[in-house]
Amino acid sequence: MSRRLRPEPRGTARLAGDWAWQEHAACKDEPITLFFGPPGERRVEREVRERKAKEVCAQCPVRTDCLDYAIARPEKYGTWGGLGEDERAKERRRRMRRGSRAA
Ligand code: SF4
Repeated sequence: MSRRLRPEPRGTARLAGDWAWQEHAACKDEPITLFFGPPGERRVEREVRERKAKEVCAQCPVRTDCLDYAIARPEKYGTWGGLGEDERAKERRRRMRRGSRAA
């Protein structure tokens, strides 16, 4: 993936430190296409690509930071924190339910 793993959030005043975790990302030298599929990607190709991406995520020391960021944003597309799009949406709903119960 490129040196800057993910684009800076647009329209938000984030401090540089918020992105410090990306410097330790296991995917920073991987192609971004491993984490974001092309439009019209077939299901079988997507499954293979996502499995490989998740193998990288499984070794990543900042997986929790990545997942927390992607869920809070929320990032709709791609593999983040070892979870695919549907898995992240499910995790986000789970966290929202947990948060509303705690309130
Ligand atoms: S968890 Fe996966 S997508 Fe997130 S920084 Fe680590 S390797 Fe990259």
